[in-house]
Amino acid sequence: MAEFKPQQKNSASKAISPKHFYDEESWKTPTSIQRAWFASGCTTLLISVAKSLIMISRRSTGLRSWIDPVVAAIVGYVLGDLGTGIYHWAIDNYGTARTPVFGSQIEGFLRHHDHPSAITKRHIATNLYVGAAGFTIAVLPMNIFCTNPNLLAFSAAFLGCGMFCQQLHAWSHTPKGKLPRLVVALQDSRVILQRAEHAAHHHPPFDSHYCIVSGVWNRFLDKYKIFWAMEMIFFFIFGVRPRSWSDFNSK
Ligand SMILES: [Zn+2]
Ligand SMILES: [Zn+2]
Repeated sequence: MAEFKPQQKNSASKAISPKHFYDEESWKTPTSIQRAWFASGCTTLLISVAKSLIMISRRSTGLRSWIDPVVAAIVGYVLGDLGTGIYHWAIDNYGTARTPVFGSQIEGFLRHHDHPSAITKRHIATNLYVGAAGFTIAVLPMNIFCTNPNLLAFSAAFLGCGMFCQQLHAWSHTPKGKLPRLVVALQDSRVILQRAEHAAHHHPPFDSHYCIVSGVWNRFLDKYKIFWAMEMIFFFIFGVRPRSWSDFNSK
């Protein structure tokens, strides 16, 4: 399948300050801080898995002791997809490049609408360090203090989706021929985000198919207009319009 072609720019991304110019070169070579956060996120994830396995193996209920943590991890993975959809919707629709904490994320997501294939050129540490930092801060204390393997398995899967979703997202923009066979197999079996599933998001006004782990929630959220309902609630309570309403061809 051919790479996505940039869509006509939406009004929001045009409004981004020139000083935040799209710097593709800097994406290819991560900084030492980006590498450190990425390494800490992966290490924290490995500690979570190892601690869960050790606690499960110490139980004396045989195979049954594995069922609950495995189910917890699957539930975490499924809800992780929903979590990325909510975050993506919020970032796409509210705030600006100058919004505290989230400004660079907002800028990055809006730029991505104009240059969708650029994400495939990012180094993995550049792509994931923000999620890895959040994962480390949230999960490392749980690794130290939590003694419930089900909770550890759930949090590792749920928050791990947040850490790795941008890589799953990047793979959905990568031509099949450049992906490892395992990744293609996981995409084709819908375990991770399919190319066609995510391609549906890349049409102005970018108001659907927000979930980027497996995309399993997209059909439900779009069919029942869940995000549109949330936008209406926000508008009537706070008077804030989402970006997708202002786009040049918004419905
Ligand atoms: Zn988007
Ligand atoms: Zn995309």
